[in-house]
Amino acid sequence: MSSFESLGIRAEILRALTDLGFEKPTPVQEKTIPLLLTGEGDMVALAQTGTGKTAAFGIPLLERIDAGGKRVQALVLAPTRELCVQITKDIEHFAAHLPGIKCVAVYGGANIRDQIRGIQRGANVVVATPGRLIDLLERGAIDLGHVQVAVLDEADEMLNMGFQEDLTTILDRTPKEKRTWLFSATMSNEVRRIAKNYMRAAEEVSMGGGNKANEAIIHEYAVVMARDRYIALKRFVDADPGMFAIVFCRTKQDTQELAENLTRDGYNADAIHGDLSQQQRDRVMERYRGKSLQLLIATDVAARGIDVSNVSHVIHFDLPGEVESYTHRSGRTGRAGKTGISLSIIGVRDVFKVRNLERQLKVHFTYVRVPDGAEICERQLLTLIGKIKSVQVDEEAISRFLDAVELDLADLNREELIKRVVSLEFNRFLKQYKDARDLNVDMASKDRNPRAGGQAREPREKSGFGRSSDGPMRSMFINIGTKDGFDKGKMLGYLCGITGLTGQHFGRILLKDMYSFIDIDSEHFDEAMGHFKAANYKGRKVRVDEGSSGGATGARDFKVTKKKFNKARYAGIV
Ligand code: AMP
Repeated sequence: MSSFESLGIRAEILRALTDLGFEKPTPVQEKTIPLLLTGEGDMVALAQTGTGKTAAFGIPLLERIDAGGKRVQALVLAPTRELCVQITKDIEHFAAHLPGIKCVAVYGGANIRDQIRGIQRGANVVVATPGRLIDLLERGAIDLGHVQVAVLDEADEMLNMGFQEDLTTILDRTPKEKRTWLFSATMSNEVRRIAKNYMRAAEEVSMGGGNKANEAIIHEYAVVMARDRYIALKRFVDADPGMFAIVFCRTKQDTQELAENLTRDGYNADAIHGDLSQQQRDRVMERYRGKSLQLLIATDVAARGIDVSNVSHVIHFDLPGEVESYTHRSGRTGRAGKTGISLSIIGVRDVFKVRNLERQLKVHFTYVRVPDGAEICERQLLTLIGKIKSVQVDEEAISRFLDAVELDLADLNREELIKRVVSLEFNRFLKQYKDARDLNVDMASKDRNPRAGGQAREPREKSGFGRSSDGPMRSMFINIGTKDGFDKGKMLGYLCGITGLTGQHFGRILLKDMYSFIDIDSEHFDEAMGHFKAANYKGRKVRVDEGSSGGATGARDFKVTKKKFNKARYAGIV
C-alpha cells in the first residue's frame, strides 16, 4: 500500500494528516487522490460512507483552489445538515496548515443571515445542502460563477430525497469547464443519469463494485416470532455489554415507542426522527457521539449523514423496503478499518427478504441464534470480572477507608467475598433470565410457535413493543369505537390513562364503529376492568364486559364476543 507522500500531496496537507493520525491512505483515497490531482476529466466514485471518502475528495479539492481567492471556488453538495457539518470540519482539519482557506457550511434549519455573512467574508469552499443553496441563489447571496470543483457527495441519497431538480438548477449555475466529482454508495439509474448529463469523460472508480456492501461489515440475522423481536433485541444487548448500536425502525412512531420501552426497561436509549426539532436532534446526537447513549433508535431518514465512529452494531428492528437503504444503514458501522455487525432481527415471514438482500448485495448473511439466559449470564459475568480486574484503584484516596472496610468484612473468607461482589451486579441478570425461554424459531420445525411447545413464559421479560404482551390474554368488550373518534393509538392512550397500565399489558385492539375489543394481559385483566366502574366518555357511561378467552385476535373469537355483545345489548348493558 502506498503512503500519502507518494500520492503527490503537498507538505502542509501531509502535516495535517499526520496531526489527524492518518498513517496511510484508505483504498478509496489511494485510487481517487492521484486521479483527482492530475486528471482533467470528471469522476464517479462508488464508495460507501466510512471508507474515507471525505479525504478522498477533500484533499484534491484543497490542492486545486487558490487559497488567497475570496470567491467560491469549490462547492460540495451533501444530503443532510449533519453531513455538511462533518465535511466542513474535515476540510478545515485537512487545511489546518493552509492559511487563507475559508470553508463555510450552509444548510437548512439554521440562521440564513449568519450563513450569508460567512459567504460574504470570503468563503472559498462552500459545503451545502441543495435546498438551502437554492434559497441562497434565489436571494442572490452566492455566486457560483467561479466554481472550479463541484463535489456531489452521497449523490444517491440526494436523489432519493428528491433533490434531482435542485441539483440540476445548481449545476446549471456553475461554469461548464469546472470538474465534477460524484461519490455515491450505490449506482442507481438516477445517479447514472446525472453522471451522463452533467459530467464530461467521467472516470469510474469502484470499491468492490456495484451495490456490494462494505466488507468490513458482518451481516447476521436471527429469526423469532415477530412479536418476540423486542425481547430478542434486549437479549442481544444484554449479551454484549460493549455494544454501541444504531437500531433502525421503519416509522417515527416505532422509533419513539421502541426508545420509550427500552428506557422504561432500564436501557440507555433515545430516538432520533423527523418530528424532533433540530435542537432536540442535536442533543440526542451529542449524547450518542459522547457515548452517554448506548442505543440510538433511528428512522432511515433521520440517520442519513450520521457519522459516528466505533458504532459496533447496526440493528434492523424492521428490515428496510429498499436494498439501498440496507446498504446505507449498515454503512454506519464497519468504518475506518474496523469491523462491525449488521444484525437483522426478523419474524419468520421476513426470511425471504434476507434471501433477497443476500442475492442482490452478493453478501452472506450468517444465521445467529438469540442468546439464551445461560449465555447472557455467562457473558455478563465475564464482563464483570474483566471490569473488576481492570478497575483503576486510587490507592491514596481509598487507603483511609480500608482499615474500617477490612474490619467490617473480616468474617467473610475470600470465596464468600468474591461471590458477594459478583452477585451485586449479577443478580439482576440471574433473576431476569431464570427460566428464560428459547426465542429462536427453528425454521426446519413444523411447529414454529415456541409457546405451543409448552415452554415456560419468562416472568420478568416483557415484550412491550407493538403492544403485544407475552402471556395469556383475556378480551375486554368496551362500548366505544371509531364513531367516538378513536383509532388504535388513541384507544391505547385512553386505556392506559384509565387503567394506569402501560402499553405492554395490552394486545390486539379491534375497533368497530360503536364498540371495540381489547386483549389485556390476564394478570391485569380484573384490575383493568375495575377501573372502568365509574368511567365516562364525553358524558356517556363507559361499559365494559369480558369477551371470549381467545381475545380480539381471531375471527372465531370475534364472532363469539359479538354474540355476547348482542346479548349484552338486549340485556341493556350497552
Ligand atoms: P468518511 O468516509 O470520510 O466519513 O471517513 C470515515 C472515518 O475514517 C472518519 O472518521 C475519518 O476521520 C477516518 N479516516 C479517513 N481516512 C483515514 C485514513 N487514511 N486513516 C485513518 N482514518 C481515516
